[in-house]
Amino acid sequence: MKLSWKQFNLELKYIFKIARGASLVEPIIILELEHDGIIGYGESSPISRYHESVETVSDFLKIVDLSRFESPFQLEEINRYLDSLGSGNTAARCAIDLALYDWVSKKLNLPLSKYLGIGNLPTPVSSFTIGIDTLEIIEKKVHEAEKYPILKIKVGLDNDEEIIRTIRKITDKVLRVDANEGWRDKFVALEKIKWLKDQNVEFIEQPMPASQLDDLKWLREKSVLPLIADESVMSSKSIPQIKDAFDGINIKLMKSTGLHEAIKMINTARAMNMKIMLGCMIESSVAISSAIHLSPLVDYADLDGNVLITNDPFEGCENKNGKLKIIDRIGHGAIPKK
Ligand code: MG
Repeated sequence: MKLSWKQFNLELKYIFKIARGASLVEPIIILELEHDGIIGYGESSPISRYHESVETVSDFLKIVDLSRFESPFQLEEINRYLDSLGSGNTAARCAIDLALYDWVSKKLNLPLSKYLGIGNLPTPVSSFTIGIDTLEIIEKKVHEAEKYPILKIKVGLDNDEEIIRTIRKITDKVLRVDANEGWRDKFVALEKIKWLKDQNVEFIEQPMPASQLDDLKWLREKSVLPLIADESVMSSKSIPQIKDAFDGINIKLMKSTGLHEAIKMINTARAMNMKIMLGCMIESSVAISSAIHLSPLVDYADLDGNVLITNDPFEGCENKNGKLKIIDRIGHGAIPKK
């Protein structure tokens, strides 16, 4: 098995601003895993909150030695080997995981969803994300997203109410709200959630910092809306620790180390009667296509990372106005654009 990779800079349509930062360009790593004349494609979109960058991804990939394995079919053994290299590097590992699954399903001549046994189950509708911006730009974005039936609104700075009021003047469609750990005071968070329920919001993602678990438990007991964990949950092992603080979890391939662990997270969350969302970072069609294949197993999808960019180097499964379509192509289906 031969690995090679290169950096690619995804360019965003708008500055993407959330409670902890903003960006206009998102550097990613595209990985190729070659074996037996088949190429599996993987992707890392490193998350700075978890101390990753394109440099740390590249450094990690340099120390990975897959020559000790005979083929990508040894996925479980390869995962145990990668576990032995230590924790962290989740986006770097995601690139390897996606490339392995792409390779294996290509070798078996199957679309990824069929390889995973998901078959033809329907996909959920994806939300479209509106980042924090001036009210004028937010208004423009909401108009542009007219055909998307569900919007996910980023809040968590100092003008949450203003943002929601601006959007509610334009549309009464389903809104989901993501505070990205932006609310620090549990009493303030509780008041905001009450107000948001009156604005017909469906649920709240990560209202408070992951480090304030006791406050989150308190908040969940009193909250009139379901709370979904994002920054508080990385892997299946972290779900039991947060189950009293949230009603559901947001799985992202870049946090989970890829599909292998994402499936474990789905099973763990189901066993605990929690709701499941499948989200993403700013990503190309490699990672988004992979997630779309998995999406029939979850309750909510937020897979718009490749819709927010202008220079996707790949084409694969589509998010068309929120409708996720698994294309009839082997592997995860993402191939380089010509
Ligand atoms: Mg989130």
